[in-house]
Amino acid sequence: MTRRASAGPSLALAPLMTTPSPLHPTLPYFGGASERRALLGGISFLELTESGQIDVAGLASWFDEHVVATACMPRLSVVLEPPAGSVALRPGVGAAARAAADLPRIITTSRTRVVDALRGLIASPSDDRFLRASIFLGRVRREEGRWVARPEPTAPLSGIVLSLFAVAILSDRAFYDRQMCVCDACGRVSFDAQPTTRRACPNHPTKTSQVSVRPTTRGFAAPRSLTPMPMSVRKTGGTPS
Ligand SMILES: [Zn+2]
Repeated sequence: MTRRASAGPSLALAPLMTTPSPLHPTLPYFGGASERRALLGGISFLELTESGQIDVAGLASWFDEHVVATACMPRLSVVLEPPAGSVALRPGVGAAARAAADLPRIITTSRTRVVDALRGLIASPSDDRFLRASIFLGRVRREEGRWVARPEPTAPLSGIVLSLFAVAILSDRAFYDRQMCVCDACGRVSFDAQPTTRRACPNHPTKTSQVSVRPTTRGFAAPRSLTPMPMSVRKTGGTPS
């Protein structure tokens, strides 16, 4: 349960949605509640997996809160990420060690694929294959005039997370084309109305300014060279699924 308590983005779903999460001062407020919930689900996944500290119970909690409770999918016993493998979300006593051992590989692969797909979207020229794939595979579709996520039970974890992002992005593509930023260093997704670069975040400013220490909503950002970052997000070449 401590994992849920640390899931900052969920705080932004407070009843009237007037108080932005301190972690997301620039999270957009366009669209309806369902689009925003989808975006929060995607961003929550990236934040929970950034540290590499998420455990099986934490992943199960994220899934329940952002995928099951929002009626995107039924509760699953196992999530897949081929070829990295699969992991049981509620392993029995005998299988807990195996699930814990398998989890980092699944998470690393999923996260890399999600971040690479989002980086493609803001690249020039833009690579939006993950959006088209999500539609083609039926993981996102139009229902009652809005985009919804409906991944199949065998969809890879990365495909599930990307379907959440796809719902938000397809609902206001122009906004994401202008304002979404994906950090080269940590993979954080943020929004900036007038970005000087779209490949940085407050903790990892651009090359020209990274030597200075900037105040951020999280305190003071260390120079990039002193900031630990997960290796998983530094890899390139993953394929969006
Ligand atoms: Zn960053």
